[in-house]
Amino acid sequence: MSRILVTGGAGFIGSAVVRYIINETTDSVMVVDKLTYAGNLASLAPVARNPRFAFAQVDICERQVLDQVFATYQPECVMHLAAESHVDRSIDGPAAFIETNIVGTYTLLEAARSFWSTLPDGKKRDFRFHHISTDEVYGDLHNSNNFFTETTPYAPSSPYSASKAGSDHLVRAWSRTYGLPTLVTNCSNNYGPYHFPEKLIPLMILNALAGKALPVYGDGQQVRDWLYVEDHARALYQVATRGQAGETYNIGGHNERKNIEVVHMVCALLEEFVPQKPAGVAHYQDLITFVTDRPGHDVRYAIDAAKIERELGWIPKETFESGMRKTVQWYLSNDKWWKQVLDGSYQGERLGLKG
Ligand code: NAD
Repeated sequence: MSRILVTGGAGFIGSAVVRYIINETTDSVMVVDKLTYAGNLASLAPVARNPRFAFAQVDICERQVLDQVFATYQPECVMHLAAESHVDRSIDGPAAFIETNIVGTYTLLEAARSFWSTLPDGKKRDFRFHHISTDEVYGDLHNSNNFFTETTPYAPSSPYSASKAGSDHLVRAWSRTYGLPTLVTNCSNNYGPYHFPEKLIPLMILNALAGKALPVYGDGQQVRDWLYVEDHARALYQVATRGQAGETYNIGGHNERKNIEVVHMVCALLEEFVPQKPAGVAHYQDLITFVTDRPGHDVRYAIDAAKIERELGWIPKETFESGMRKTVQWYLSNDKWWKQVLDGSYQGERLGLKG
């Protein structure tokens, strides 16, 4: 039984990791999260009252507070997911991305190193600092036969991916220079329950249900490799607990789809599940509207996940079809969650959490 410190645990992927650890393992979790617009305590409600769960509202840029967290919680593992994560927001305002993704990761690394350096030898060897990153650090692919591997050179395109690339380099340097036992994972696009409605799939579901336009960037031909978030959470736990210190693992879903195909799939599933459409809408796909492309928009991402499959035996359980059915059904059954996000009331949620 381990104590795992999860940063960004109130976000989309972080909350899936926390629900996985509490529901599927005997480990304990302490979440530290600043609760920015992307943090939502309602995503942790299913595990909030479990005695193995704890929460503290903490900004990872605040070194003294982090030192207190390490001293009192005494984690055996850190899973670092706290980040600014939305590419469009990074184009409009990069400062928060530099601050949290680079300065915050540096601050967390230093707090972890300071705590780790005081541990006895055995605990020092077994400690893990797991940094969760993205395949966007590799830039994009134009040849449909190529895939990102763990040795693909970094070539980030957006302020978001550049800030994540910077944080990956810091984590590797802390491993090489100070011997901190680190792990880095780079994952493709995630989708699934509790996804903030500014991201492509939930945006399309909720706009279609409301009879609003479905905005698709450019010609919609950009290719992404989609992974169901619960498959990612399981992969992250396997890397954190069984991965080789100092190593990097790519995680992907073998589900390459053009953005426009994803939008058509959302429309087809809604035709099946919600045939009664909003007034004036004959077919959900009639709502598709092409809008000016995002500046610097990457063409194609595709992950080669052979290493994690070979070394840790992880493969995704969901196909894109099964994961998308679950996702659309989840949004249809959990309107309270997304309505609170859309009207802003989720930011007042406190749910009686500790910390
Ligand atoms: P998210 O935006 O949903 O959640 C981020 C969380 O971090 C939020 O709860 C937010 O409150 C918290 N946070 C932000 N700044 C903070 C700070 N200064 N201190 C403490 N907490 C802070 O993001 P996500 O989609 O869950 O992504 C999690 C991680 O996984 C990120 O590092 C992201 O780069 C990476 N990733 C995401 C995807 C994806 O498709 N979403 C794919 C690959 C990798």
